[in-house]
Amino acid sequence: MTRIDHLLAQGPTISFEFFPPRNEDGARVLWKALAELEPLQPSFVSVTYGAGGSTRERTHRLVVDLLERTSLTPMAHLTAVNHTRQELGDILTRYRDAAVDNVLALRGDPPRGAEDPFWELERAADLVELAREAGGERFSIGVAAHPEGHPLASDLSADRSHLAAKLQLADFGVTQFFFRLDDYLRMVEDLAARGCDRPVIPGIMPVTNVRQIERFAELSGAEVPVELAARLHTVEDDPAEVRRIGVEVATQLCQDLLDAGAPGLHFYTLNRSSATREIHANLTVPGP
Ligand SMILES: Cc1cc2nc3c(=O)[nH]c(=O)nc-3n(C[C@H](O)[C@H](O)[C@H](O)COP(=O)(O)OP(=O)(O)OC[C@H]3O[C@@H](n4cnc5c(N)ncnc54)[C@H](O)[C@@H]3O)c2cc1C
Repeated sequence: MTRIDHLLAQGPTISFEFFPPRNEDGARVLWKALAELEPLQPSFVSVTYGAGGSTRERTHRLVVDLLERTSLTPMAHLTAVNHTRQELGDILTRYRDAAVDNVLALRGDPPRGAEDPFWELERAADLVELAREAGGERFSIGVAAHPEGHPLASDLSADRSHLAAKLQLADFGVTQFFFRLDDYLRMVEDLAARGCDRPVIPGIMPVTNVRQIERFAELSGAEVPVELAARLHTVEDDPAEVRRIGVEVATQLCQDLLDAGAPGLHFYTLNRSSATREIHANLTVPGP
């Protein structure tokens, strides 16, 4: 059994996020990235869940494949949107029976174009409680955190209070990507002020494509700082230079986070390995 809360108690974790491939070409790209990242011996890897259950089987299969075919510890994402409580309970029970120890419990956004999205479990916190019931002692349960506030929250203070309450039900958090160290530190301070002591792992998105990062930022409520956007736009037609800046900026953020005592680093790999490997090679990660 490898629970992420136990790993976090031993020192900073390094983790990588992947999405389940849609077809055979995608699977080849993913497994190449996995083969290149496995030697870095990450603490765990996570597998996203498609909006509204669109990747239900593919997420399950990849999580179980990782468990059976690699040395990696997987974490399964699960979203409540467009699932009944019964369906979510069944999915969690399947993970428990497959000896999957780690689950990231999310509310999920409405799938694009969905006419009548529904949530029988309205908040991620409700899914945490269901996962506790279904998993018993097995599951270590994580939740999402948004350093700059959830994009739909109109009141940052209320959003922080909801986050603190949700984290206290769970074991740890993982953040949306962000670019400013202060946004993360302020969130941690706000949580501590609300009596929340759960570790929150910062999420890191290496910039490799200007348009893509701006689209992701818009969707997730993260802001690309003006200076960084300006720097990237001056070289946007030179992919190698964009990537070089992306790696440099992410390396600095990661090192600052580790130096500030962050409990780990979670890399959004987008199923590619090279930027993550370069950043990892640049870092001094404190031992347990
Ligand atoms: C690390 C990470 C991984 C993710 N992985 C996936 C994935 O695999 N698949 C996917 O589809 N999406 C994923 N997402 C996106 C996520 O589903 C969305 O951000 C979603 O909009 C919010 O999910 P949540 O779990 O944070 O929701 P919640 O914690 O339920 O919060 C949603 C909103 O409700 C508010 N709220 C919470 N509790 C209360 C309350 N009691 N009263 C009033 N308001 C309340 C919050 O302030 C917030 O504005 C991920 C996000 C992150 C950060």
